[in-house]
Amino acid sequence: MQARDSLMFITQRPDITFVRGDGSWLYDAEGHAYLDFVQGWAVNSLGHSPRIVREALAAQSERVINVSPAYYNEPMRRLAGLLARLSGLDRVFFANSGAEANEGAIKLARKWGSMKRAGAYQIVVFEDAFHGRTLATMSASGKPQWQDLYEPKVSGFVRVPRNDLSAARRAIGPNTAAVMLEPIQGEAGVVPFSNEFLRGLRELTGELGVLLVLDEIQTGIGRTGRMFHFEHAGIRPDVMTLGKGIGAGVPLAALLAREDVCVFEAGDQGGTFNGNPLMTAVGYAVVQEISRPAFLADVERNGEYLAARLRALSEELGLGEVRGQGLLLALELRHEVGSKVVEAALARRLLINAPRPTALRFMPALNVTRDEIDQMLGILRDAISNF
Ligand SMILES: *Cc1c(COP(=O)(O)O)cnc(C)c1O
Repeated sequence: MQARDSLMFITQRPDITFVRGDGSWLYDAEGHAYLDFVQGWAVNSLGHSPRIVREALAAQSERVINVSPAYYNEPMRRLAGLLARLSGLDRVFFANSGAEANEGAIKLARKWGSMKRAGAYQIVVFEDAFHGRTLATMSASGKPQWQDLYEPKVSGFVRVPRNDLSAARRAIGPNTAAVMLEPIQGEAGVVPFSNEFLRGLRELTGELGVLLVLDEIQTGIGRTGRMFHFEHAGIRPDVMTLGKGIGAGVPLAALLAREDVCVFEAGDQGGTFNGNPLMTAVGYAVVQEISRPAFLADVERNGEYLAARLRALSEELGLGEVRGQGLLLALELRHEVGSKVVEAALARRLLINAPRPTALRFMPALNVTRDEIDQMLGILRDAISNF
């Protein structure tokens, strides 16, 4: 039943109102505890209401909450410097959502193409891609359900199959400015590009003189056990976008690029809240915490543990493959029972997500404990056994 209220309908929500969160746990108005392995879609990288975020918000709100994107503020400069140092990219533009960061990447690639590659404007993208919900990023996405929605789409995107280097090579022509991809396609059901493909694509784009744009909005900021996913393949993109986990729950995203790609002139790009000191102060505290080698090593270890336990469960119940890296994992089910399993898990007070009818996705807080992983698996086993 849809609750009667004044919210515009966009999705069917269960009739639960959450009032409090703490780490891996959410509490409803009656005080029931729910184990959260969705975490705002991989957003709450440090769990619910973490001390680090609360302290950064409190301290910065005492100093200054908003300046104006037309002036410098301290946290925006500090966070940009930290991200540049960690990524090896040179410059950062802050945004409020992943889609907005990707819009910025698309604009930057088009402007770069118009100036440095004789008017090239096309962007090669991939089947099943997800880059956000603005009109341009929906057009860049390859979600089959969006095919006929909000027509006409923004033109200029050329789509190719995943992990097919010769198809990518054929798609790149004189009008191509960039190739854009998520190293692991999260919304598609945690579907990874191979490291060989990523290395091949890095070489190919370099050779043909087009930009490699990585959308690390879901895979970045420690999610896969490295600060950025591209480290697994030993490559570096020309342009990268970050979002979700970078704000650990506050709206923050970023567009990063190599120095010679940064071709925006005054007035080309902006936004009212961009680089807001309250959000960038949180981002700085979050990125400092997650980039600690010991923190990332824990993500990797706990990711391996969760994957191993999911594989054991899959074997026991005769389910399919376990995919992904770090704490971004999916379990393939035998039948199209994903939403039924999600419902059965919710009835047992476990929050999980089914990005596809046949797949479950796990994206817990990066500081989830072994005990919470074990509890999740116990509930999941019980929920799946019904189908
Ligand atoms: C979530 C996501 C986006 C969109 O981010 P929003 O903050 O929802 O606009 C874009 N790309 C990827 C890979 C994502 O996972």
